[in-house]
Amino acid sequence: MQLAVWTYEGPPHVGAMRIAASMSGLHYVLHAPQGDTYADLLFTMIERRKSRPPVTYTTFQARDLGKDTAEVFRTACEHAVERFQPQAILVGASCTAELIQDDPAGLAKALGLSIPVIPLELPSYQKKENWGAAETFYRLVRGFCGGVSQPDRADRARKTCNILGSTALGFRNRDDIREVKGILDALGVPVNVIAPLGATPADIARLPEADFNVVLYPEIADTAARWLERTFKQPRSTTVPIGATATRDFVREIAALAGVDAEPALEELGERLSWYARSIDSNYLTGKRVFIFGDATHAVAAARVCRDELGFKVCGLGTYAREFARDVRAAAADHGIEALITDDHLEVEDAIVAAQPELVLGTQMERHVAKRLRLPCAVISSPVHVQDFPARYSPQMGFEGANVIFDSWVHPLMMGLEEHLLGMFREDFEFNDTAEASHLAALGGTADRAVEADTPRANATMQSEIHAPAAEALPAGWTNDAEKELRKIPFFVRGKARRNTERFAAERGVAPITVETLYDAKAYFGR
Ligand code: SF4
Repeated sequence: MQLAVWTYEGPPHVGAMRIAASMSGLHYVLHAPQGDTYADLLFTMIERRKSRPPVTYTTFQARDLGKDTAEVFRTACEHAVERFQPQAILVGASCTAELIQDDPAGLAKALGLSIPVIPLELPSYQKKENWGAAETFYRLVRGFCGGVSQPDRADRARKTCNILGSTALGFRNRDDIREVKGILDALGVPVNVIAPLGATPADIARLPEADFNVVLYPEIADTAARWLERTFKQPRSTTVPIGATATRDFVREIAALAGVDAEPALEELGERLSWYARSIDSNYLTGKRVFIFGDATHAVAAARVCRDELGFKVCGLGTYAREFARDVRAAAADHGIEALITDDHLEVEDAIVAAQPELVLGTQMERHVAKRLRLPCAVISSPVHVQDFPARYSPQMGFEGANVIFDSWVHPLMMGLEEHLLGMFREDFEFNDTAEASHLAALGGTADRAVEADTPRANATMQSEIHAPAAEALPAGWTNDAEKELRKIPFFVRGKARRNTERFAAERGVAPITVETLYDAKAYFGR
């Protein structure tokens, strides 16, 4: 048992639903108890789809358990095929149905349906949503391409590619696809199939015709792409085009795979991030401490953008995607820090407090944590709420994605002039340490800024401090003068200064902490 209030991922059958809902001509018959239809709302409300996902639930009830639940499954399966007339069906079990062991695969096979049946074995108690999506996509690809013979691609004038990995409920997938398609157009590379988003089972069967695969989201498409590589000698791309530098690398990688020249396309495709980040207004961004958490693809890409393109200092990097822990560990080592691999949001909260960042880039969970800690935050990865399925064009990938990233990551920060003035005039009645950044005042009002929280789950205390105007509780062990001096430090680095000073004092047995201790610690850590 594990106590969980928030989970970063749903059960694996939600991943399978995402694949089914991405495609057309495919239906998913899910053996599941009454109530599991809640998952429909993820698609109809969060993603705001116009139609229900193509899923038939058996919705067995407690009273069915005394009878024949296998019969319930068989009937649901037959009805679904008759009513929706799909090209193929997926069959599988949810967590509860896994326990009653009805064997959906065997039952569907025994029905002798006239369409292909892809059975799913998703271990709900060991694996999660992204794994479920990756496994389902892989099963589909194997199911439809398994018997296909190696196509002859020898005398093709232009090499073609598939774009793999975009799904329903994927963070900004809809717009990323358009952006990446634009890059491929600029390179003159025809797209054979985009999958799973928008594909049919017949399209999946055509995947082997392409010369290579563009893998946008390894969490979803890596397993299938590796199998295609082994089976049909289709190389796969490994660069995820998030950020201006990664996008340039991506254009070059795709050009090399397609045997074309990258330079004309690079000249044609413009971006503003690089210039905006170099313009003098961005000087104050240099060295800002940022904590990053999310799925592996977005977290690793964000860390690279932060350091190489925005000049931030990455002080925390982690993921909930255990399958990709190795990649995140390698990226963290590159930033001189240790990766945080966990799906426990309380651990993430503790790590954020310990790292004392000035900006948090994370999922919807980190947005909540950052709100409680009064830290600026931007969302970079699933899981996300409805506002991250925006009506406007908002990719993360490609050059336009880099523009979107620049705007949305810098926006939550206090602007340079205000930050500078706050350092000089902290007693102003309107623009002071306890007020929100003025460009965000319409969103957050002028709520009083929290003290630098020490223990995240001392929330009751923290909340009362948040609402107590200017009542900054400082820890025991500080002289009054030292406390006053500490308050002169701008709020966004004050927490770090306090922690460093306390560590410095504790290591040397200095008590109480005086103004001298504060400056000694500053000199020591500033070396
Ligand atoms: S079967 Fe799984 S997903 Fe459905 S309600 Fe039970 S625990 Fe939740």
